[in-house]
Amino acid sequence: MKIQPHISYKDNTMHMEQVSITAIAKVIPTPFYCYSASAIKDCYLDYKNAFSQQDTLICYAVKANSNQAILALLANLGAGADVVSEGEIRRALKAGISADKIVFSGVAKKESEIIFALNNNILQFNVESEPELTLISEIASKLNKVAAISIRVNPNVCANTHAKITTGKSENKFGIPIAKAREVYKYAASLSGIKVQGVDVHIGSQLTDLQPFEQAFAKVAEFTTLLKSDGHDISVIDVGGGLGIDYDENETPPNKDAYAALVNKQLGHLNCKIIVEPGRSIVGNSGVLVSTVVYVKKGEERQFLIIDAGMNDLIRPSMYDAYHQIKPINHTNDKTECYDVVGPVCETGDTFTKNRALPTTQAGDLVGILSCGAYGSVMASSYNTRLAAPEVMVQDDHFSVIRARPTYDDIINQDTIPEWL
Ligand SMILES: *Cc1c(COP(=O)(O)O)cnc(C)c1O
Repeated sequence: MKIQPHISYKDNTMHMEQVSITAIAKVIPTPFYCYSASAIKDCYLDYKNAFSQQDTLICYAVKANSNQAILALLANLGAGADVVSEGEIRRALKAGISADKIVFSGVAKKESEIIFALNNNILQFNVESEPELTLISEIASKLNKVAAISIRVNPNVCANTHAKITTGKSENKFGIPIAKAREVYKYAASLSGIKVQGVDVHIGSQLTDLQPFEQAFAKVAEFTTLLKSDGHDISVIDVGGGLGIDYDENETPPNKDAYAALVNKQLGHLNCKIIVEPGRSIVGNSGVLVSTVVYVKKGEERQFLIIDAGMNDLIRPSMYDAYHQIKPINHTNDKTECYDVVGPVCETGDTFTKNRALPTTQAGDLVGILSCGAYGSVMASSYNTRLAAPEVMVQDDHFSVIRARPTYDDIINQDTIPEWL
């Protein structure tokens, strides 16, 4: 029985590709993240095929999952990177993504980060404000470099997604209101060390409907035409990321072909190179967080499955009210009961789900939290002095640890007691 393209039950045991998750858990203590390399590859190739008729660069949004193995896998397939910090530029370069395929997004690029990006000759800065433009111009001039820029415009559309991942409304901190952007382009063109090359937009994340994209891209098309008539040489349109995935088995997010067709319909006539910045829709469904049930606790009104993964490992349920499928790794029981699935962290918010019907479960059983490939391990912390969950990558019939679990010494020794204490 298939649950995700590369995850299925064989002999009642969850397998990722050909590897039994129970077998991995025998050698790697839970909790751990497990990713399917083939799932990531397929999602990337789906984008590539969907956009094959258009001049397109796929810049994977590194923040979704920045493990070196995942970046190297995508680099080998020809992917570029969308980064939001110097740290992410370093990760992308180290994994083999060439600088001329790196776009630098984010609202708070600091001087040191701009210097680093310019010295590495990245493809483009996605500029989010006038003061940022001024600073990039000053630094580029000093370094005798030219910074190629797009300005992130805010089209003021409602993305119909969770409030914490909406970015394209005028009340959000991101981008420059499209009505004001024309004068900012004029300002950019007047600056030394700046080459205006494109327009950028990113309206939010986990969009399960194409309509907000359609509205946004229509506005971007109209605006690009205006910029061209103003004499700007616009050769790139960066449409951002944001395509959703099916966290819930009943969700049907648009496929990549429909998305690419929409991009072509709205923007194709402008003859620009298209940059797409998908994150979640490349890695999201590739990952499972594997955890062990520590206790089954019967409260007065509820039953709790207390598992050894917590909100420090996966914060999405408590931060975004996110839904994740939770499945037994060994599916031997068809009887179901209702459980609250909670973690060990001393916070009421450390809850993965409430009142979910799951197969009857006992202490010691393994459970898998699905669709954890994006915004999972990258958002983890060591809150409660818990050791970060290791990461494992599976391909065909083999697996490797791609990030080991730190030791207690590793994290405790990061602290220093001042000698004057
Ligand atoms: C987060 C982000 C992305 C990726 O979003 P997904 O929803 O993961 O596809 C792309 N571009 C920018 C500017 C972002 O901030």
